[in-house]
Amino acid sequence: KMKINSVHAREILDSRGNPTVEVEISTKLGSFIGVSPSGASTGEHEAVEKRDGGSRYLGKGVKKSVQLINSKIAKSLIGKSCLNQKKLDELLCLIDGTDDKRKIGANGIVACSMAIARAGAASYKKPLYTHLNDIYSKLYGKKIAVKIPQGYFNVLNGGRHAANKLAFQEFMLVPSANSFAKQLQMVSEIYHHLQVLLIKKFPGQVIAVGDEGGFAPPLSKPEEALNLLVKAVEIAGYSKKVSFAMDVAASEFYSERKGRGKSSGEYRAHKMFNASSLMKYYISLCEKYNIVSIEDPFDENAFVDFASLRKLISQNSNLKKRKIQIVGDDLTCTNSLRVKVAVLEESCDCLLLKVNQIGTVTEAMQSAVLAQKNGWKVMVSHRSGETSDTFIADLAVGIGCGQIKSGSTARGERVAKYNQLLRIEERMKRR
Ligand code: PEP
Ligand code: MG
Repeated sequence: KMKINSVHAREILDSRGNPTVEVEISTKLGSFIGVSPSGASTGEHEAVEKRDGGSRYLGKGVKKSVQLINSKIAKSLIGKSCLNQKKLDELLCLIDGTDDKRKIGANGIVACSMAIARAGAASYKKPLYTHLNDIYSKLYGKKIAVKIPQGYFNVLNGGRHAANKLAFQEFMLVPSANSFAKQLQMVSEIYHHLQVLLIKKFPGQVIAVGDEGGFAPPLSKPEEALNLLVKAVEIAGYSKKVSFAMDVAASEFYSERKGRGKSSGEYRAHKMFNASSLMKYYISLCEKYNIVSIEDPFDENAFVDFASLRKLISQNSNLKKRKIQIVGDDLTCTNSLRVKVAVLEESCDCLLLKVNQIGTVTEAMQSAVLAQKNGWKVMVSHRSGETSDTFIADLAVGIGCGQIKSGSTARGERVAKYNQLLRIEERMKRR
């Protein structure tokens, strides 16, 4: 038993300059931090982020959640052992008492849950990824191997993460290498070549970066983005070694006509699509570019359209040899109930895992277990609003899922996670 002596929450800023909740939990070994990230293209089925409203911080303050943690939550956690993550996470849910954590706020609860995990790791004198691995293996019912993940590096930003006209949100590089250090080096080199290409293509214009550190040039068509990536990869000399991935985040440019989830709505990208023309468009992109992963290709309730795309890909003779995974993010929201539906509908074969989408480490892990037991892959993910916290790097290694996305190889809050993976990789090689 390792008793929690104090719980203290405070309001700090995230990478977009918005308030977020940081929680410090202390035991006799010191104090341990947890902090909530924040999404922009949030799924409508995510646990609720509590915001104060009013004019302070344009309504985005988190003082109400902070106060509830410093009173209610602190009272319940103090004196309990930080070693039982599952029990404490259940307690956090119970104190909140709502099904979407709107009372305390998932932003406050997730910060507590992460701080508890860090305190637990310290008690066992283990690195965080090992402690998370122990918890995950227990939930899974067998020992899961830790693993350094494949990175999915988002170097071109659109959608809600940029002010350009690109509707698709993320264009990612997937480098293949035999170490994470080499993956990072490859992407960093490509990123800088990409910058030179963009400066040449748009002379005199500012080449801004988006929320996740990828460039946000004035593009509108996905092909333009993918062509630039192909070229930058070629200049860097990695043509055969890098594939591509996209997070379309299609809910953000979807509007319903008759009913959501039906194939009746419209997708307003660089041109108008319906579900079936968008599906054909994805196939054509996959035929033209070496795409290996597509996230949220349709609206967040379109379980059936996701499944149809998977079927169409598997039946396409040109794409048979390549594994193209379909990733659920807004569709599944790290929520095991929604993962169950997606499993039944065969909508995806990869779960995007964002702890703050559901609110506790245990619940996120339970969703990952469910996904993996049904033969899916899992990709641990940052949010577009982040801090320099590195928890998700340890989480990805700890659950051994083999995939992570944390944005580009630029901007402190993005590289913080990748740098942590370098440290973990180094440590694992020493043993
Ligand atoms: C995403 O959609 O995968 C993402 C990281 O964006 P956000 O955090 O804005 O939901
Ligand atoms: Mg997404």
